[in-house]
Amino acid sequence: MHHPPILERFLRYVKIDTMSDSNVVGKRPSTEGQFELLELLKEELLALKVEDITLSPEGYLVARIPSNAPHKKIPTIGFMAHVDVADDVMGNGVNPRVIETYDGQDIVLNDAYTLTVEENPTLKEYKGTTLVVTDGTTLLGGDNKAGVAILVTLAANLLAPTSIEHGEVELIFTTDEEIGRGMEGVDVSQLRSRCCYTIDGSARGEIDAECFNAATVTVDFYGVPFHLGAAKGRMVNSVTMAASFIGSIPQLESPEASEEREGYYCAEQIRGSIAHTNVVLYLRDFDLDQLKRRIRALESLAESVELLYTNGKVELKSEIVYKNMFNYIKEDPAVMEAIFKAGERIGIPLKERFIRGGTDGSRLSEMGIPTPNIFTGSHNLHSRYEWLSLTTMEESLRLVEEIVAFWAGEAP
Ligand SMILES: [Zn+2]
Repeated sequence: MHHPPILERFLRYVKIDTMSDSNVVGKRPSTEGQFELLELLKEELLALKVEDITLSPEGYLVARIPSNAPHKKIPTIGFMAHVDVADDVMGNGVNPRVIETYDGQDIVLNDAYTLTVEENPTLKEYKGTTLVVTDGTTLLGGDNKAGVAILVTLAANLLAPTSIEHGEVELIFTTDEEIGRGMEGVDVSQLRSRCCYTIDGSARGEIDAECFNAATVTVDFYGVPFHLGAAKGRMVNSVTMAASFIGSIPQLESPEASEEREGYYCAEQIRGSIAHTNVVLYLRDFDLDQLKRRIRALESLAESVELLYTNGKVELKSEIVYKNMFNYIKEDPAVMEAIFKAGERIGIPLKERFIRGGTDGSRLSEMGIPTPNIFTGSHNLHSRYEWLSLTTMEESLRLVEEIVAFWAGEAP
């Protein structure tokens, strides 16, 4: 079967086992397959005549496509994708199935699993188009190999004689994103991009420029152990102290009771006994001031618990682990303008979403390179029901090319 090059690439990449492994410590990337895919990408980019390629031992592949308008002063623009896949369901041994012309009906993946239109109403919009699905035993890996295929195809298009006018384009392929270590070994001083775009989103038109501000709060409760038979007036139970602390946190502000732009407190872990109990809490909020308010609320709660339990002690430590990337992105308004102008030009309605989590883009933004996220056409990420639309993946590529054109033309 003959497919367009972008789909051929996608099918080639998903067959390479690149599931990252959070149990592996002290090794980057965490699994060999990720390196194997980076090596393959390097070969393919070399074959496309990309000359400036660096593959670092830490698992970063950076490829630069030179400007074809050297007389113009155009900033370097980056695009980023990760080569690893998640392990929520099996991520290795992927056996993709191409549906050339989707008939709009339920898709039987195997004897046990069916992708239904009822549960996936957007499928209806894709009747008559090409989809890629799983065989029901693994995820598909469109997160983020759709992004990888888009970037390699971008390189091919920008190096073709028919290419649009463009400045220098920096492609960044990373590893171990799914286990939160994507930006761990990156050397920002080696990157030239004024801004970057991750091609790591999902449904058509979705753009992510905001993510949570995140803090981790650790609280240690110290009690006074005593023989339980003679404990009256002497023993202080740190388990009870921790329970009253957690019980005072508003339950309506928990992950299970919040959505959209609402922040939360989450008691993520508790360990202890009468003498000492340790509690770890995750705090999330889109507004940094509100995140700080939440930290102060817990500090004052900790103080109250200490006062309530004579001879008990409470120690609280807080750390901001990442920040809403929009704080950085808004500093350079052209970064988002590029996306929305591009969307207008190719006629794709774009909608901004809020990521209830963090991304590699948020970390890169914090390091000084503002990095919003763009859709890929992959749906039901991290599940066996994952499916990819070829037309939307192609639209994502067109959007990316228009962004490149924006920076070469009308950008301030
Ligand atoms: Zn991803």
